[in-house]
Amino acid sequence: MLRVPRYWREIPYRYRLIGSKCKNCSKIYFPPKQRCRVCGSTELEPVNLPRRGRVITYTVIRSPPSGYEKYAPYIVGIIELEGGVRILSQIVDCDPTEITIGMEVEAAFRRVIEQGEAGVIEYGYKFRPIIKP
Ligand SMILES: [Zn+2]
Repeated sequence: MLRVPRYWREIPYRYRLIGSKCKNCSKIYFPPKQRCRVCGSTELEPVNLPRRGRVITYTVIRSPPSGYEKYAPYIVGIIELEGGVRILSQIVDCDPTEITIGMEVEAAFRRVIEQGEAGVIEYGYKFRPIIKP
C-alpha cells in the first residue's frame, strides 16, 4: 500500500469541508467517521458538505484556555449546514455584540491557529457571516 505522509493525506480535509456518508443509511458525519453510529456499517464514503449554513447556538469565549488569551474574545458556535449537518466552529469576522442565532454564515479557510484542549480550532476552516449587499 502506498504510504503518504500525514500532511499530504490531510490536505483535502483542510481545504474542503468533507464529511463521511454511510452507504447503508445515508447518515452524514463531520468530522468523517469510519463507522456509522446509527447502523454500525463501516461502508462510509467521503462527501462534500455545503459551505453555507446558519448559527444554531454560540458562545463568546472571554476567558480562554491557557495559550489562547491573546485571541480572546472569540466566538465559537454550532453551525447547521444546508442539509442539516452540524459543525462546531470558530466564527470570525464578526463582532461578539453583533452575532445572532440564525445568522447566515459561510465556511472560510484560514490558517489554523493551533490545536488545543478547546478542540475548536481544527481542520483549517472557520465560519464568517455572509455579508449581504
Ligand atoms: Zn449507517
